[in-house]
Amino acid sequence: MTTFAWGSATDIGKVRTTNQDQLLTADPVFVVADGMGGHAGGEVAAAIAVDEMAKVTEMSSLNGLVEVIQNANREIVDRAKLEPELRGMGTTVVALVGMTLEGEDRIAIANVGDSRLYLRTPDALVQLTEDHSLVEALVRDGRLSREDAATHPQRNIVTRALGIDEKALVDAWELVPVAGDRYLLCTDGLFDELDETTILDTLHSIDEPARAATILVDAACDAGGRDNVTVMVVDVVETDREMPDPPIDRVVATYKAIPDAVERLEAGQMEHGPSDPHPDEIYVDRSDARPPFLTWRLGLFVAAVLIVLAILAASLVAYARSSYFIGIDGQDVVIYRGQEGGVLWFDPTVEERIGVTVAGLDADDLAAVSDGIGFDSLDEARQRGDELRQRSSTDESP
Ligand code: MN
Repeated sequence: MTTFAWGSATDIGKVRTTNQDQLLTADPVFVVADGMGGHAGGEVAAAIAVDEMAKVTEMSSLNGLVEVIQNANREIVDRAKLEPELRGMGTTVVALVGMTLEGEDRIAIANVGDSRLYLRTPDALVQLTEDHSLVEALVRDGRLSREDAATHPQRNIVTRALGIDEKALVDAWELVPVAGDRYLLCTDGLFDELDETTILDTLHSIDEPARAATILVDAACDAGGRDNVTVMVVDVVETDREMPDPPIDRVVATYKAIPDAVERLEAGQMEHGPSDPHPDEIYVDRSDARPPFLTWRLGLFVAAVLIVLAILAASLVAYARSSYFIGIDGQDVVIYRGQEGGVLWFDPTVEERIGVTVAGLDADDLAAVSDGIGFDSLDEARQRGDELRQRSSTDESP
């Protein structure tokens, strides 16, 4: 099981009257949620999400994580139905969960809304989650630049949240944990105030996760603090696998817009939930950049498949070339090698001519020859060829 070290901080900011952000650090479950709507609604929705996630003690599939998030969504929807003053409440959720998948350590992450999860790399802050927000959709459409998105007046409008529909659309990823990796989970109150370089510098210079989180939250407040700010830093301390030279891409699999729990999918497969509200949005993208231990496993599988194919091909060739038949080639009666009509792309070839033309055959022999007379060996075919020649009326001997 992966060992984590973590720290977090949250602040109401300089403008808001309540802090509707919620966080959960319950190793191996780490969650940040940004509540929205109503007077107390946002706080309640975010709290329900976090409480639901807190019930998880262990995780053995990405399925499990998607299911828990769907449960949280249902809880929020049901609660809003019961209490009219909470109507319209919702929350984002971004989660990182350590899990063991088929005996190997993995990290499952998932998000709904515009809270983010980043991986710190030596020279960049890589955002692994995708914002479900209006500005992100505009940027994707090419109608807004990445720079303008950061200051867009409607940048807090989310296109997905828990508590809106009976089913939430969840994006999820399976990652390889690598000792030394540092993950950052945060609400928009952080990245709306600080640029990524500033965030990265702090993550590099401050080792202790809780201190790094506090410094980042304070910096966001100092920069304006126009929203609640929540920051969680999760470090991978130890994992079951030594990877001296790990690939920078930790993502093993990506699952987009999953309305239902999913099985682990193989490349090219897709799975739709029966009540999927946005079938067009569903796609599964398995990363090409697989870590080496998956590559050799895949390599063995490919090698096995190739060997089986080679054996099949060899038997096919043997079968295709193993027999003979007497047939017609133009005006000549000939011995063919191969199967009459061919086998796949192996057409029969003329082995030898027997010195008889079609015109020399009697009616019965002509009928037999046009159908093709099959033999298991060349000798048998030659023998019949001799008989045909003897009966032939136009023996072309000089
Ligand atoms: Mn926020």
